[in-house]
Amino acid sequence: MSIKNKEFENLLLRIDSLEKRLDKLDPVSKRKLPSKKEQVEEIQNNLEEWSKKFPSLDVEFELLKMLDWLKANQKRKKDYKAFFRNWLRKSSNSIEKKVEDVYRYIYGCTNSGDCSTQDSEYKDMYIFCKTCGSQKTIIKSIKS
Ligand SMILES: [Zn+2]
Repeated sequence: MSIKNKEFENLLLRIDSLEKRLDKLDPVSKRKLPSKKEQVEEIQNNLEEWSKKFPSLDVEFELLKMLDWLKANQKRKKDYKAFFRNWLRKSSNSIEKKVEDVYRYIYGCTNSGDCSTQDSEYKDMYIFCKTCGSQKTIIKSIKS
C-alpha cells in the first residue's frame, strides 16, 4: 500500500469514527444513501471516470481537498457524489477563469502582411480589419 493510500485510509477511518460519534449525538434520520465511508470509497474507485469528465483537474487531489474541507468545516452531506461533482465543477470553472486571466489574444489578418494586429483579453471577439475588410482571427495567444 502506497503512502498516499495509507493516508487516505487513515483519513477515511478518522472520518468514519467522527461520523459515528456525531450520529450518536444527532442521528441522521431515514438514511437512504450508503455511509459516507462507502460513498467516498465508491468515488475513489471511480477516479478514472471522474478524471475523464474533468480532465483539467487532479481528481484525487480534489477529493482529498474536499474531504479536508468537510472535516475542517464539520459538514456532513447526504450525497457525497453530488457534492463532489459540484466541487469539481467549481474547481474546473476557476481554472478556466485563471487561464483566461493570464492570456491575451493577438488578432490579425491571415491574408496580408500590411494589416495591423490588435490584442484583446477575450478570445471570442469579432474584429474587422479596416485595411483589408476581412475578419481578424487569433494568430497568437500570449501570457500577459
Ligand atoms: Zn486586414
